[in-house]
Amino acid sequence: MKIHEYQGKEILKKYGVAVPRSVPCFSVDEAVKAAEQLGGPVWVVKAQIHAGGRGKGGGVKLARSIDEVKTIAGQILGMQLKTHQTSPEGQKVRRLLIEEGADIKQELYLGMVVDRVSQRVAVMASSEGGMDIEEVAAHHPEKIHQLAIDPQTGLLDADADMLASKIGVPAGAVPAARQILQALYKAFWETDAALAEINPLIVTGDGKVIALDCKLNFDSNALFRHPEIVALRDLDEEDPAEIEASNFGLSYISLDGNIGCLVNGAGLAMATMDTIKLFGGEPANFLDVGGGATTEKVTEAFKIMLKNPGLKAILVNIFGGIMKCDTIAEGVIAAVREVNLHVPLVVRMKGTNEDLGKKLLAESGLPIITANDMTEAGQKVVAAANGAASL
Ligand code: ADP
Ligand code: MG
Repeated sequence: MKIHEYQGKEILKKYGVAVPRSVPCFSVDEAVKAAEQLGGPVWVVKAQIHAGGRGKGGGVKLARSIDEVKTIAGQILGMQLKTHQTSPEGQKVRRLLIEEGADIKQELYLGMVVDRVSQRVAVMASSEGGMDIEEVAAHHPEKIHQLAIDPQTGLLDADADMLASKIGVPAGAVPAARQILQALYKAFWETDAALAEINPLIVTGDGKVIALDCKLNFDSNALFRHPEIVALRDLDEEDPAEIEASNFGLSYISLDGNIGCLVNGAGLAMATMDTIKLFGGEPANFLDVGGGATTEKVTEAFKIMLKNPGLKAILVNIFGGIMKCDTIAEGVIAAVREVNLHVPLVVRMKGTNEDLGKKLLAESGLPIITANDMTEAGQKVVAAANGAASL
């Protein structure tokens, strides 16, 4: 789960990380009041969306007067902000952060992730802050310093100091950087974060170390023990199809392609997407209807997929284990009748009561294209999506 920069900064502040003074706002009036309250001479107006790269996209701007804050807030609020992390249409800006301008001497990078290989939280730090860390990783990997933290000891003073020095924190500011590194690790650990990033972490003209940006993602599987984090969820930032799917207990992720997939089991769903890609198609979604898919769930899944205007075909791929193929066939037939299907549908089912399931599909009189194996299913659905449904 993602949260906004201003919410992340609130959390970091509680752990003792220095952040600039700032006020979140929902309107231009609020932005003006916030700027007055903060006092000048320099403010930064920052779009709050769940994506990075806002600065480059025109979503982070400096203002030198209250009037400028007003103008810029008016421009940014409501804009479709496009960054390399948003969809091509961009994300509508509904919230702003008005922040005091910082005197930046150095922009550094600090990130933490769960490293599956070492099974530890890994810190990444770089002198090249403020820019895309992916670019730095691609072209100057030697400028990224990493360390896997031993959960028994936490981040040791000596290790924190070593990292701070390696990324160019001046000697006098190393204790402040150490404190931030250790606080970030504590915050990461205690909130069950999946990613924590401060980019840029800055050193100011007077030698202070401050988190100027903040990105925190949380492990969804641990949210049950963090109601205070769940409360920060902003549904405006999430894909409406994914929210709807989650209300029906469906695991659904929107993708860019045009072939909808309805599958039982996450592994089979992944293999189905691979098969579609193998035959030159592009999946429109990942969808695992789960082991106990009811007719209602299957119908909802169809409705969600069909809302995608770019959808060209659907592939239903079911392994009948505990879930019997005839039950799924009934669900598919009922769903197709209810949703007024307007794209070709390919169904492949294998397993318990397979013959009965196929018979039900054949006798339904619906224009369902059947396939006996994954290869056939992949080939048929890609052909159907390309407009060769009748072949
Ligand atoms: P994003 O990563 O989404 O582009 P940031 O919060 O990192 O957004 O802001 C982009 C850049 O804007 C920063 O690298 C920094 O140079 C500048 N900036 C951000 N906040 C401030 C601030 N409070 N004072 C001065 N400059 C800032
Ligand atoms: Mg940033």
